[in-house]
Amino acid sequence: MRKKIAAGNWKMNYDLAETEMFLVDLKKQVIPENVEVMIAPAHTNLHHAFTSLRDHPVTVIAQNMNQNESGAFTGEVSAKMLASVGVNTVIIGHSERRAYFNEDNAVLAEKVNTALENNMKVIFCIGEELEDRKNESHFELIETQITEGLFHISNEAWKQVVIAYEPVWAIGTGETASPQQAQEMHEFIRNTIADAYTKEVADGVSILYGGSVKPENAKEIFGQKDVDGGLVGGASMKVDSFMKIINSFS
Ligand code: 13P
Repeated sequence: MRKKIAAGNWKMNYDLAETEMFLVDLKKQVIPENVEVMIAPAHTNLHHAFTSLRDHPVTVIAQNMNQNESGAFTGEVSAKMLASVGVNTVIIGHSERRAYFNEDNAVLAEKVNTALENNMKVIFCIGEELEDRKNESHFELIETQITEGLFHISNEAWKQVVIAYEPVWAIGTGETASPQQAQEMHEFIRNTIADAYTKEVADGVSILYGGSVKPENAKEIFGQKDVDGGLVGGASMKVDSFMKIINSFS
């Protein structure tokens, strides 16, 4: 059985006090046992969040890391630094990193390697822009993103990898991929992994959907055969709406 995952990506939101307010409220909630729940606060709040959630089922993960082990990379954060504050999972290749920080598939492949070498789990994001969908190149684009970003890893390493399919046109726009569009792409991704590796590897990979997931649409999206959960932005930032999403798995 694949893991069901609800991960909250807070992006560049919430300072220390705001993070603490969320955590106080979160700790009053009952987290269902069948769902792995994660939150990704800003780097500056990872240590606090990890310490605060030490005996709690919710995992604290990072939004990004540098591909180098250490050195003269002003402003960057390494895998070892993340590990030292208790983080063992990192989001790699979010569309905002690709678009605003010029992270291409080659750099992302390096980040994947560095994360895996440091025993970190990876949530690898892929997704097409509206333009790609309009000219019907979205499947090809997704195939290129996973092939160039991930298909160098070993069969064994897939146990450390989760994929998040986030169509860029659905991020922060209120526009969601229909459950059918999500299922169609998730199935395509799984088949692509099966072709390059084995069916067993493909069947073991959790594939999350991201892009305007809300309490109102989570149940139907998560109900699709190849959708194993969500990477949630805006709606993960209020405990109330995030809990409704977490409780949307059947
Ligand atoms: P929204 O849920 O705000 O659309 O953001 C999705 C996202 O980018 C999560 O990584």
